[in-house]
Amino acid sequence: MNHSQRPPKPIGAPADALSADLDPTDWEAFRAESHRALDQMIDHLATLRERPVWREPSAEARERFRRPLPAEGRGLAAALDDFERFIQPYANGNIHPLFMGWAQGAGTPVGMVAEMLAAGLNSNCGGRNHIALDVERQIAAWMAQAFGFPLDASGVFVTGTSIANFLSLLVAREHALGDKNVRKNGLKALEEQLVAYASREAHNCVRQAMELAGLGARHLRLIESDGARSLRVDELRRAIAEDRAAGLHPFLVVGTAGSVDTGAIDDLDALADIAKAEDLWFHIDGAFGALAVLSPALKPLVKGLERADSVAFDFHKWLHVPYDAGFFLVRDPEAHRRAFAANAAYLTRAPRGLAAGEIWPCDLGADLSRGFRALKTWFTIEVFGTERLGACIEKSCALAQRLRRNIEASGTFEMRAPVALNVVCFGVKDDDEAGRLNREIVMELHESGEAAPSLTLLDGHPTIRAAIFNHRTREEDIDAFMLMLERAAQRARGEPPLEPLPEPREDGEPLSQD
Ligand SMILES: *Cc1c(COP(=O)(O)O)cnc(C)c1O
Repeated sequence: MNHSQRPPKPIGAPADALSADLDPTDWEAFRAESHRALDQMIDHLATLRERPVWREPSAEARERFRRPLPAEGRGLAAALDDFERFIQPYANGNIHPLFMGWAQGAGTPVGMVAEMLAAGLNSNCGGRNHIALDVERQIAAWMAQAFGFPLDASGVFVTGTSIANFLSLLVAREHALGDKNVRKNGLKALEEQLVAYASREAHNCVRQAMELAGLGARHLRLIESDGARSLRVDELRRAIAEDRAAGLHPFLVVGTAGSVDTGAIDDLDALADIAKAEDLWFHIDGAFGALAVLSPALKPLVKGLERADSVAFDFHKWLHVPYDAGFFLVRDPEAHRRAFAANAAYLTRAPRGLAAGEIWPCDLGADLSRGFRALKTWFTIEVFGTERLGACIEKSCALAQRLRRNIEASGTFEMRAPVALNVVCFGVKDDDEAGRLNREIVMELHESGEAAPSLTLLDGHPTIRAAIFNHRTREEDIDAFMLMLERAAQRARGEPPLEPLPEPREDGEPLSQD
């Protein structure tokens, strides 16, 4: 073959196939367009309160995302226009101060900037010898310090607490069955059935983790809770004894620090004692509640957290790091690594260079390629500091108590669960069994765009649930929310409103003026 000649172009390739790349041809034009995008989003954040919490995506917007795969690109400016028209107005709404649904963080402008920087670097954080992994280890050490874990505790970013809880189950399983080599032999080779324990208030992802791990949801014992909705430790002791007597193998107890429905916290010290006496792995689902440690006033509520073998929690909820940023922290680094580390030839570690380093994040979970979640988390903690972040957490608990008092003073509503942290569960006093009014009120508030609480089932009854996470929410918002609830209750009953409702809003027009 004559090397001085280029090989013939493949038939059908575009004329410039060999010079194709994805960088801007005009960097200055790109700079201007990106600055416009940044300005647009800063404006969006600065004027949040003037817009409804949520809006149903228009038919036109939905239609925009039912098009065929484009062969030809339209360029950044056109895509930004579409973003502004069809995406930005119809987002989830969780950045708005009157969003109180589920358990969601609000994000911060600082987090947005950090996300952009991380995307610019586009680091693959599965492993290797680069600074992003130092940042991730810094976060693990910081959280170890915050939780009272040994400073060499092992940690890894994951999408969220659901996955972190799943990883905990795999680490606990490996820990319980070390010599049986379950990673190689599988569960079928075992003679004994593994059994785990959690409160009936535990998040459904704990049950799902049992399913995913092949242990079976049936082998998660959901232990009764008490009046405060904390796991009943006497019932836990009884269940473990029963399972042992039946020849089963108890291996894991999952404590809840801040239950998703009501914010209830288990007696973590008591669970640590039982786990120790029974030789069980003690994992804590602290999705949001674990971060109560950042407030000196709230920290005593999660006493015992420092004794856990592992903790799952989210930076994207109460710390407002942009989605997603879940974390899994394990006391014993060796136990963590043993559950996942493998020897693939293409992941071989070198003594020097980019392939150096002993433990890579891919040794600590199931992800290989992964983004730089640590950067937005580092920016958030570095920029605000734990005192200010803790103060926001504390404020949301104080606001929850204010809402509780408002509900208790209301003739229409009544409380349905104690308020341990930042979650308020309540309902219309005379609602029917099916919770028709509660359901109607929540949908009404969503559709009017005034506020976004959510709905849950407490002991089988549809209950309105306001989870106050947002750092932007203020006392006035809580009082306004109470008024919205009263009016929505009247609308749901088909009664004429006490006061005229605000005129329907046009885009960008303020919600209320005062
Ligand atoms: C939110 C939550 C989860 C799930 O976390 P994701 O980040 O959504 O995966 C699990 N447990 C509790 C208590 C939660 O509040």
